[in-house]
Amino acid sequence: MVEDRASHSGPAIFERIAVLGAGLIGSSIARAARKSGAARSIALCDHSPEIVTRARQLALADDYFVSAREAVRGADLVVFCVPVGANAELAEQVGKDLESGATVSDVGSVKGAVVAAIKDWLPEGVHFVPAHPVAGTEQSGPDAGFASLFSNRWCILTPPENTDPEAVDRVRRLWSAFGSNVEIMTPEHHDLVLAITSHVPHLIAYNIVGTAADLEEVTRSEVIKFSAGGFRDFTRIAASDPTMWRDVFLHNKDAVLEMLGRFTEDLTALQRMIRRGDGDGLFDLFTRTRAIRRNIVDLGQETRAPDFGRRVLDEGDKGQ
Ligand code: NAP
Repeated sequence: MVEDRASHSGPAIFERIAVLGAGLIGSSIARAARKSGAARSIALCDHSPEIVTRARQLALADDYFVSAREAVRGADLVVFCVPVGANAELAEQVGKDLESGATVSDVGSVKGAVVAAIKDWLPEGVHFVPAHPVAGTEQSGPDAGFASLFSNRWCILTPPENTDPEAVDRVRRLWSAFGSNVEIMTPEHHDLVLAITSHVPHLIAYNIVGTAADLEEVTRSEVIKFSAGGFRDFTRIAASDPTMWRDVFLHNKDAVLEMLGRFTEDLTALQRMIRRGDGDGLFDLFTRTRAIRRNIVDLGQETRAPDFGRRVLDEGDKGQ
């Protein structure tokens, strides 16, 4: 079980947070903000009235909106929690309604394209501190969120040069209050690192599950029946939200293609080792990769348990 470190002592960091998009990440932010006491009040918005109704039933916030323009009024922090491709339109919508001195942030899994999509719509006097919580599940929607999602996970901030250090510090303190470890880097570096640690692995999972589904010599029932042999872990990743991941690949094209090129070269080398019966080569690689897994577990980013160690935490934490 992952330790829940979300807490905050002292006065609220923000008077009012407006969370735009009440899905997995937005609803988790609302829950974590409430639980940690990091915000005095929470406005939650989604463009879908059904999602807003559901968020209200779950009592995730203080006020609920279908209109993003209304939601941002009076907020000193506005967090965009929508699919990567929806940020530009949302920024255009709310730009003129943002309070002077407010901070805008986001949670997009791609940073270069999202920063470019939002920044030109922000008026003078509004700070911009983009963020990416490196935490998530394959689920979507307000029911899927939970307060400890960000606990003991990394959150990467990519503030543009010359951003007010006080605004950066407040966003950093917010994520710390959610239990996250915070790191600052450039959007370009973020996109390269996440291409290999997140985006390409998702592409590989989508690909292998797609290939298995299309195999003619193996029946679909056999794929499901014998899935525990490794395939099952890929299916969890390949069940991730199609809209979110379509947008990630369309908006982090260069870094993904660069990493995919390297991956393909290494795969060809592996193919050669198998063809030539190079057991030592295979053994050396598998020993190195096993050590990486151990490091991740030792750093508390994973448990030794199967199914990614998440299930127990999810069930106990719902509804917070
Ligand atoms: P999600 O569960 O699908 O939630 C997104 C919500 O935003 C949906 O309810 C969607 O409604 C709504 N929305 C879309 N456009 C909107 C708009 N213009 N105004 C208001 N609401 C709008 O997705 P998520 O997993 O929370 O992902 C949100 C963001 O977090 C993405 O940028 C993603 O890259 C990032 N992220 C995700 C993860 C993860 O593991 N899931 C981890 C880290 C970061 P409709 O569905 O009706 O369009």
